[in-house]
Amino acid sequence: MDAKIVVLPESLTSKIAAGEVVERPASILKELLENALDAGATDISIELEKGGCGSIKVVDNGEGIKHAEVPLAFERFATSKIYDFDDIYKVRSYGFRGEALPSIAAISRVEMVTRKRSSLSGTRVIIEAGQIKTMGHAGCPVGTSVLVSHIFDPVPVRKKFLKTEMTEQAYCMDVISRMALSHHEVRIKVAARGREILNIPATRDIPERISLVLGTDFKDGTIPVKGNKGSITLTGFASKPEYSRSSTKQIFFYVNKRFVRDYLLNHAVMTAYRHVIEAKRYPAAILFVDLPTEDVDVNVHPAKMEVRFRNPRSIYDIVAETMVSALSNIGPVVPEGKGRMMPEGYSQRVQEALKRYTISMGSGKLFFHRSVGDARETASIYAKIQDKGKDILQFQGLPEESDAEKEVTKKSLNFADLEYIGQIAGTYLVFSSTSALVLMDQHAAHERILFEKLKKRSPASGEKMIGQTLLIPEVVSLSPGEFATLLESIKIINDSGIEVELFGEKTVIMKSLPAMLSHVEPKALLCELLEEFSKTERSLGLEERKEKICALLACKGAVKANQKLSESEVEMLCRNLDATPFSSTCPHGRPVVISFNTGDLERMFKRK
Ligand code: ADP
Ligand code: MG
Repeated sequence: MDAKIVVLPESLTSKIAAGEVVERPASILKELLENALDAGATDISIELEKGGCGSIKVVDNGEGIKHAEVPLAFERFATSKIYDFDDIYKVRSYGFRGEALPSIAAISRVEMVTRKRSSLSGTRVIIEAGQIKTMGHAGCPVGTSVLVSHIFDPVPVRKKFLKTEMTEQAYCMDVISRMALSHHEVRIKVAARGREILNIPATRDIPERISLVLGTDFKDGTIPVKGNKGSITLTGFASKPEYSRSSTKQIFFYVNKRFVRDYLLNHAVMTAYRHVIEAKRYPAAILFVDLPTEDVDVNVHPAKMEVRFRNPRSIYDIVAETMVSALSNIGPVVPEGKGRMMPEGYSQRVQEALKRYTISMGSGKLFFHRSVGDARETASIYAKIQDKGKDILQFQGLPEESDAEKEVTKKSLNFADLEYIGQIAGTYLVFSSTSALVLMDQHAAHERILFEKLKKRSPASGEKMIGQTLLIPEVVSLSPGEFATLLESIKIINDSGIEVELFGEKTVIMKSLPAMLSHVEPKALLCELLEEFSKTERSLGLEERKEKICALLACKGAVKANQKLSESEVEMLCRNLDATPFSSTCPHGRPVVISFNTGDLERMFKRK
């Protein structure tokens, strides 16, 4: 590429989403890195002083700038990346507005040294508060080096808005990590206070890069995600349900390699995880959406962190559908000490890459929160459940799956093949396989089975569930709030087999319940359901209501803790679980199975 830098005409710049691009050192760094990548660099070195508040230096081996064009690069709206407005819908480069360098130069001192491969000598230019101070020829390697210092000196008030050097450096490291994740082919070195803190070699593929940037834990914690629809593709990695985070911060979205924050995309991911992880826990994911440039508008945000899709619905659908299908295929896996989800030869390549790589700083290594405590928590929650019912398992209420249904999921752990050893604490089923000890929470397992079956049969899937008529209909009086909630959802409640008829002002008669809930107290069930519906402040969508009903019915219908199961009931539970998607967690996101492989046992017995 040998494009000329030109100043865009006013007619075009007036249509460009202009705005403040230099908010803090990390925003300067982001712009410099984007320029380096746009220039085709394969090797980038970054030096930060005082967390980026002192100075920022970015050295690249990209295509460089012609001597005569160097002053232009610092002019407002001077760019080599677009020439007319329509080009904005064709650009693959990060930059296109020609705003970054002049904005940075206006609030700091910039020293740029640059040389094109075809030139014998390079150019050195110093700019202070937007004015060129010196410019001349200089001997230098091919590529560009930009040193930004005296940051915010011309606007001292801006310094007051900066946080501590450590925090500003963390922002800078975030910018570097995001870039590093989407450009695995680029070598990236970072030094702070003269000490190298990160040195990531070019890697063969993105998974290898992810391990280097975010730690190898990611390898064990994620599954690959892949899907496409028409000209849109989605690829990436997303956390398994048992690895979750306390915020959505670890969901990285890239649209045509551009890191973006997008509510819609996050929502699509969260929807897929809704009944797979616990409430208030969030997945981690690195997802790349690629689509034709004309279908996405990148000219909507000054720092280009947001984009607008021509057809948001289809993007939402592909993300949600691909995630659901990836998650539905995860069964609980007996760890065999091998990363089963990664491509062949992956671990070895990461190990090799790790040897070449050094890191002495970075929070990335703690990317995932392995929910060690959660298992204990689950055990104590279930131990507390006092089951008063004496009902036997209601498996007979639901027929066996067809072979076709069984084909839906293929998992590495087949419960029906495990050897059943017995039950402990009336709650946990104990199994052994040749190389592992497997514990299953009977309630969580049954709950997931029922939930998936109910979801399949729920009204939205076109089938009305048939309730079992109550011997004596139950008259229930509701509070005004409960009554209003009921009116909103009465159809969907009736369709789910809970037959409710209005009877006066705030009174209803319950006539039937789903067969599997014959042991449940009808009034309590209805009130609990209405409470679920009114928990959120916004009004719930049809799909969400349907899922809430299914989740509640599954929870109430599932075998409880402290309930003895016969061997044939355990066998039936295992067979059903084998044919159930999302079987690694219950609909509230708690684990169904915890397993210990021989390695784990050896470690516990201190043999290793
Ligand atoms: P934009 O990236 O939007 O074009 P910038 O102000 O960031 O605007 O840069 C202006 C121009 O300077 C770019 O279009 C590019 O031609 C040139 N440029 C900036 N940084 C580099 C670099 N590291 N290597 C080569 N060219 C660069
Ligand atoms: Mg730029």
